[in-house]
Amino acid sequence: MTQKTNYTNEVKDESYIAIQPWVEWKHVTMGKTHCPTCLKLDKCWFVKANMPKIPQHERCHCKADPKSTRTVLREATANSAYSKYDPYLFNTTGTYHHTKEVLFRGWGYTVSDALWLKNEIERQGLEKYKAGNYILNKLDHNGQRINIIVTIPRKDRSGVVTFTTGWIVYPSGHIQLATPYADK
Ligand SMILES: [Zn+2]
Repeated sequence: MTQKTNYTNEVKDESYIAIQPWVEWKHVTMGKTHCPTCLKLDKCWFVKANMPKIPQHERCHCKADPKSTRTVLREATANSAYSKYDPYLFNTTGTYHHTKEVLFRGWGYTVSDALWLKNEIERQGLEKYKAGNYILNKLDHNGQRINIIVTIPRKDRSGVVTFTTGWIVYPSGHIQLATPYADK
């Protein structure tokens, strides 16, 4: 957990977003080699300056085709399941072995804020993904994970809190929340 009082990280300038070149991963197979990792990357969109390494492995024939930035900005989507907040984050069933709800309670958040958090994390997640403002994390046969840093106001007092959310990249500019609060 880091805390910032002067938050200037938010990207609001669309002209800055618009100049970034994007790519669409294209899985290319020669013969019988089907790499499960590359298959997961197929049709996924990344800013060229922040994409998985290519070639991904020996004899990888994948390509990174240019993708229209305008299309990316228009069509990219971010979603998080309500269940990631309730019951998971706020541990409303008491069955999870994390203490994330304690952290959020310390910032003044309870399960009654679950829907607000879902909407806000989706909003910031999409905005930052479209700005290329994400951190490439683990990549394997389950797909490319990215981390996105979000900032929310404290509800217990003035100020904000900043934390890391974890997402998985899917084809056609979709990102899906894996965890609303990543420990790393
Ligand atoms: Zn490949």
